Amino acid sequence: LDKPEKVEASDNVKVVVRCRPLNEKEKMMGHKQSVAVDEIRGTITVNKLDMTSEPPKTFTFDTVFSPDSKQLDVYNLTARPIIDSVLEGYNGTIFAYGQTGTGKTFTMEGVRAVPELRGIIPNSFAHVFGHIAKAEGDTRFLVRVSYLEIYNEEVRDLLGKDQMQRLEVKERPDVGVYIKDLSGYVVNNADDMDRIMTLGHKNRSVGATNMNEHSSRSHAIFTITIECSEKGVDGDQHVRMGKLHLVDLAGSERQGKTGATGQRLKEATKINLSLSTLGNVISALVDGKIKLFFPLCANIGPADYNYDETISTLRYANRAK
Ligand code: ADP
Ligand code: MG
Repeated sequence: LDKPEKVEASDNVKVVVRCRPLNEKEKMMGHKQSVAVDEIRGTITVNKLDMTSEPPKTFTFDTVFSPDSKQLDVYNLTARPIIDSVLEGYNGTIFAYGQTGTGKTFTMEGVRAVPELRGIIPNSFAHVFGHIAKAEGDTRFLVRVSYLEIYNEEVRDLLGKDQMQRLEVKERPDVGVYIKDLSGYVVNNADDMDRIMTLGHKNRSVGATNMNEHSSRSHAIFTITIECSEKGVDGDQHVRMGKLHLVDLAGSERQGKTGATGQRLKEATKINLSLSTLGNVISALVDGKIKLFFPLCANIGPADYNYDETISTLRYANRAK
């Protein structure tokens, strides 16, 4: 957090929860919808569909999205205000949190080839360049993107020439925390950004034997930096810069529980630590005087066999209110 984010009286950590639909495999195996989403009341109710007498548990959030929510609605209610403030020169971060398979990547990226299935990242490309196209007079914009991955506490530049290279996290009083030598590409339109995402994706799988497992154990951060140069009332050109971080977190499932040992256990411990640290940061922000507009989209599955993980995700998200 190298710069204050846009602060308004009503702002807080905003938490939205999205439940994905039951998939074909779950239906075939006879799994039932055990999560009820009430978009009007903002509640999620989780039922335990076994013979125990466990009462249903209900949680309330700022915004909740049912299994048939539309990508554009998620964008408009969750991301649009953040992208607007980044265009004004503020910083913003959007996180997708949740168990593997619940829709983090679907929410952040979606299916880029199908317009109505595009997620937050491609929708933000369209929003940014739509805004730039309307700029008047001497206003000029420069947009750059970076894409990195944190795997096992090592930072890899997904747009870098050398995919074997690991980057260092540094800190300087004037710029704050930064990644040394991280590449930044200037982009001129939404198609440029899309091509860069594709390149980053290809690199994400380099060296991964199992892509699913790899993405469930790594954090991916797509950053859009927007500089705007404008003539001020004093007649001089002024430059302001906003940064947007779009974060697809590692899976929140307790990775150690399946008897992992050695390297796997070490990785699992680090993932659990980074997610619980993020949880502590969020709690501190909520409890403290500092208010940040800091959306977290928590994703959950609808089926009964996910009961424990679903409750654990909702409890995590609940801390952030
Ligand atoms: P994660 O990134 O959390 O591991 P994914 O985004 O890969 O999960 O989602 C798992 C699967 O479920 C994918 O096939 C994805 O297309 C599908 N899916 C997730 N959320 C939705 C949704 N809201 N509507 C339709 N399909 C979804
Ligand atoms: Mg994913």
